[in-house]
Amino acid sequence: MSHEAILWERLSPDDLRVRCNLCAHRCVIPSGKLGACCVRENRDGTLVTLVYERAISQHIDPIEKKPLFHFQPGTRSYSIATAGCNFRCAFCQNWEISQLPRQSQTSEAHGTQAGGQGGGGAGGMERQAQVREIPGSAARPADIARAALRNGCASISYTYTEPTIFAEYALDTARAAVGLGLKNVFVSNGYMTPELLELMVGLIHAINVDLKAGRGEFYHKISGADLKPVLANLKTIRRLGIWLEVTTLVIPGLNDSDEELRWVASYLLNELGPDVPWHVSRFYPQYQMSDVPPTPAATLARAWQIGREAGLRYVYVGNLPGHESESTLCPSCGTVVIERTGYNVRFRGLRDGACARCGTAIAGVEMRGER
Ligand code: SF4
Repeated sequence: MSHEAILWERLSPDDLRVRCNLCAHRCVIPSGKLGACCVRENRDGTLVTLVYERAISQHIDPIEKKPLFHFQPGTRSYSIATAGCNFRCAFCQNWEISQLPRQSQTSEAHGTQAGGQGGGGAGGMERQAQVREIPGSAARPADIARAALRNGCASISYTYTEPTIFAEYALDTARAAVGLGLKNVFVSNGYMTPELLELMVGLIHAINVDLKAGRGEFYHKISGADLKPVLANLKTIRRLGIWLEVTTLVIPGLNDSDEELRWVASYLLNELGPDVPWHVSRFYPQYQMSDVPPTPAATLARAWQIGREAGLRYVYVGNLPGHESESTLCPSCGTVVIERTGYNVRFRGLRDGACARCGTAIAGVEMRGER
């Protein structure tokens, strides 16, 4: 169903064009057209979202799958998504749903570059609104929140596709969840505007941001976007007091050089501090990059080493179940405080959020253990 969008403005009172201020593309959309994500439409000078209460996916996941290792560890998170994304990553793992609205468009971009900071390509072009019905099941925010509680979840995650593009739905669901004592999580490419981040305070308690690379060129070519807003948002998220973890998918030949990994690790350390967890994840051939081999385990070990040598306290290798770096070690004495094997979590040396051996606090939110 369509629903009036948040964070938009008319260009002028006598102009039906609107600017969407939900993500850094800041699309300028003429009447009857869609934004670059293909799920927001200008209807006679009013911006509407086409994915409100259109859940395309609902699952119960371990919070570790997001991945969040320092936020309510060992709990379950009710996970939802709608179709659509503001990026067009060539390696997307969920491209069947993230790119569905874009692929449904029978006409390609019409050549008017959107306003704002957005990168080139499909990420910054207006689209013809030819398909108005976005696939998905009607699921109301209050019902999702109740389902999460009924299934023993501690949080709701807005995930699988980019939650920024379904922010109205996510924030209404988050509001219902907070009313039931649940927390809320974004798993995001970090391309939202600062205005949206401000609206998330008090509703969204943790974000995992996918920092895909340390070079703007990668973002332009592979994702159709710009790196700078993502870097700025990492700092804003910290400043707003939302728990942050960062994931980098390490892709052979694209972002796996020592130089680039060092740049990312140094940025995290210098701008966000040593307690921000960094997940270096294994790439598997996907979507338009099915000819690229999986990331070798040795490359991931090198990325882990680079993160630790830079001074980050919590670095994890992801998508490689059983790898020894899945566990959380006390940054002071090296004791294993949370042992993980895949999604199996054991609190071994953690007491009241601190190392049971030396008492060093372990960074995070609702870190548990023996009491
Ligand atoms: S791509 Fe971003 S700015 Fe453009 S319409 Fe979608 S959410 Fe709005």
